[in-house]
Amino acid sequence: MARASNQDRLLIDGEWVETPTRFPVHDRFSGKLIAEVCAASVELADLAVARALAALEAGVPAPHERAEILYRAARLLDAYKDRFVDSMVSEAGFTLIDAASEVSRAKLTLELSAETAKTLCGHVVPFGAHPGSERRIGFTVRDPIGVVCAITPFNSPLNTVLHKIGPSFAAGNPTVLKPSSLTPLTAGILGELLLEAGMPKGFLHIVHGNGDVGEALLRNPDVAFYTFTGSTRVGKIIQQHAGLRRTQMELGSIASTIVCADADLSVALPKIANAGLRKAGQVCTSVQRLYVHESIYEAVVGTLAELARGLKAGDPRDEATKVGPLISLQAAERGEAWIRDAVAAGATLHCGGTREGSVITPAVLTDVPESCEAWCREAFAPLIVVRPFKDLKQAIDGANDTPFGLAAGVFTKNMDIAMQAMRTLRFGTVQINETSSARADVMPFGGVKESGFGKEGPAYAAVEMSLERLIVLNP
Ligand code: NAD
Repeated sequence: MARASNQDRLLIDGEWVETPTRFPVHDRFSGKLIAEVCAASVELADLAVARALAALEAGVPAPHERAEILYRAARLLDAYKDRFVDSMVSEAGFTLIDAASEVSRAKLTLELSAETAKTLCGHVVPFGAHPGSERRIGFTVRDPIGVVCAITPFNSPLNTVLHKIGPSFAAGNPTVLKPSSLTPLTAGILGELLLEAGMPKGFLHIVHGNGDVGEALLRNPDVAFYTFTGSTRVGKIIQQHAGLRRTQMELGSIASTIVCADADLSVALPKIANAGLRKAGQVCTSVQRLYVHESIYEAVVGTLAELARGLKAGDPRDEATKVGPLISLQAAERGEAWIRDAVAAGATLHCGGTREGSVITPAVLTDVPESCEAWCREAFAPLIVVRPFKDLKQAIDGANDTPFGLAAGVFTKNMDIAMQAMRTLRFGTVQINETSSARADVMPFGGVKESGFGKEGPAYAAVEMSLERLIVLNP
């Protein structure tokens, strides 16, 4: 096994640290061992936090310096692109297209973070509006919040990580990152890139490991802010430990998209197929439920199944592959079982749903009973469940009927329908003429209900990761 630069070590205070305990990372398609990554002990996790705090106390780079470092990182991305793509294809099972798109998004996220570093500020208080306060002058300032702990999932090992480190640094905070133990190598490459870009050594630490390392970070009182993306189950654990400390929670989801009778299907259906099946369905906003007006239902199911059948599933290194392996054999077995159970309960499988190793061929299902897991639990597998509706309220009530509320999409040309959908869909994002999964990194992105709270998008996240204080000048 070739030794991969520093990716398999911890990053503490600018040093790449080896530890005696290692955990394996496998190629998701071939199953081959690709690295053995150093796991942090509780002591090293605490050391990372201590060094982060010391860096903060020693002095924060000026906003224009932070911006320049982030811009430099964005410029360096091209030189790192092949390593990132190779790493994500291997450890995350992403297709070449999905991996390349992660890298181009990452560039934008870095640039947006750099802009945020330059523009983040408080506001002036209009004291003149308050009788007796006319002569006061007041304004708010935004200070760094303190040590930020970022805990991230496997399904976006570059961009989700940057959506945490970027705004945290923009706001002047040091970050201790615990990436998913399923995809730690991409985070390691990012650490190398950010150091090369000039990230001051105390402002980024990477501690690898699983939930144990995460829990050590949760127990550490010197962490001021937790930014988490992952399952609702783990989000609840983090929130319990956080106490009065602030958090940002980007959690689980069952996303819906609604196709109305007047939708432009030539636009909607290719987008829906992509949004439900890219990254093998392992996307938090993936179209799991598709509501289709009954007048076009048969046609939509037929075309969607045709589109899904046209997506080659298999080796993610093959340029023709559109659907790669799931993150683990267990995840693929679970996805396959959910499809099988739905069919046993009366559902119709229009295409796909077969498994070979960790790869599931993209599946389109109809008539799935509501009690089936493929309907009522987050699938995180390449499947789309289609259901007809007669009137819009039926579709909206169905889409709302989950514990989650991350994102929804509606395809229609009718303004009244768009307004009704916008007002009544209880999701953090509602997009008209887009799927639930469309995302531009400039957006304020976040959920409601059990999908969490707080907004991603560098400009919004940096506000959350800063402390706003009021200064009043009394004459
Ligand atoms: P996960 O919750 O299993 O793991 C996420 C991270 O939490 C990992 O780094 C893991 O090691 C860590 N962790 C696990 N147990 C912990 C503990 N007890 N204490 C501290 N940390 C702990 O999630 P996953 O399987 O990696 O990712 C899939 C989930 O992420 C899905 O539910 C998906 O919807 C969600 N997700 C949400 C968004 C969003 O924006 N809302 C985006 C991407 C993924």
